[in-house]
Amino acid sequence: MKYTGTTYRPPYEADSLLLQATVGCSHNTCSFCSMYRDQCFKVESLEQIEKDLKEASTWPRKFDRIFLVNADAFVLSGAKLKAIGQKIAELYPWCKTIATNARITNITNKTDQELRELRNLNFNEFTIGLESASDNVLNIYNKGYSQDEARTQLLRLRKAGISFFLNIIIGGGGIKHSSEHIQDTIDMVNDTNPDLIYTSYMHFYPGTELYEEREKGNFVENTVRMNLKETKDLLSGVNVSTNFFGLHTSNPVPMYGVLPNDKEKLLNQLEEGISQIQDSVLDNIPQTGVEGRLIK
Ligand code: SF4
Repeated sequence: MKYTGTTYRPPYEADSLLLQATVGCSHNTCSFCSMYRDQCFKVESLEQIEKDLKEASTWPRKFDRIFLVNADAFVLSGAKLKAIGQKIAELYPWCKTIATNARITNITNKTDQELRELRNLNFNEFTIGLESASDNVLNIYNKGYSQDEARTQLLRLRKAGISFFLNIIIGGGGIKHSSEHIQDTIDMVNDTNPDLIYTSYMHFYPGTELYEEREKGNFVENTVRMNLKETKDLLSGVNVSTNFFGLHTSNPVPMYGVLPNDKEKLLNQLEEGISQIQDSVLDNIPQTGVEGRLIK
């Protein structure tokens, strides 16, 4: 199998066959992200993709789920994605789902007809790094789309029958934009009904623009307590049926449940977790690398 550079996948894709369709990230300028800074964006050839599919089809395990990597493989044209889907149908007739990372702008460049055709080829359950639905936060992050654009494109995906998982960054607006970050994101979740919400907590990586802004005092970071309150507000505000996946290692209180049935259980779990963290930790900014190990 060919993988170029570091390959990232969400934790819930651990059992999927990772198939390289692109290298790096076509955007690669989000102000908080350092994941693909050392990679030039490239499109993988159909010949190589076919070679990889054939190689993995000889393994004892029959993959019924394939996850296209890297950062935004859905940037490929509808025609190329259909060719990949057809090749998978030919070589993996048992494959039920072709999942992928997608940026909001990757959806914009597909027609409704293309989205339906891709759904018919088993494209489904896309992971989308929304991060926030606040226009101010999206601008700070240089995500390259607005709240309105995100809502429009997510509803187009849903109309085509393609379900999706949204990444949300807790603490992503800092102190200044905390309220709108969470409220706009709750509204987006309730309007578009993702099948899963994947929360991670704000991290600052040296070499990124946002790290520099924080160093200069232009982005004031939440304390751990504020971040946990954002999680509580998010959980309380979501009123659609969805999976709440708070198991990224950056979550100080790891949680997973299905909303709305598990809402009270998760809120209690959160309160219980907070009660076990020392005040000196809660009232300070998060220390990168120790989250998930704060509970006594
Ligand atoms: S956050 Fe996603 S879209 Fe933005 S630069 Fe990183 S990988 Fe690319």
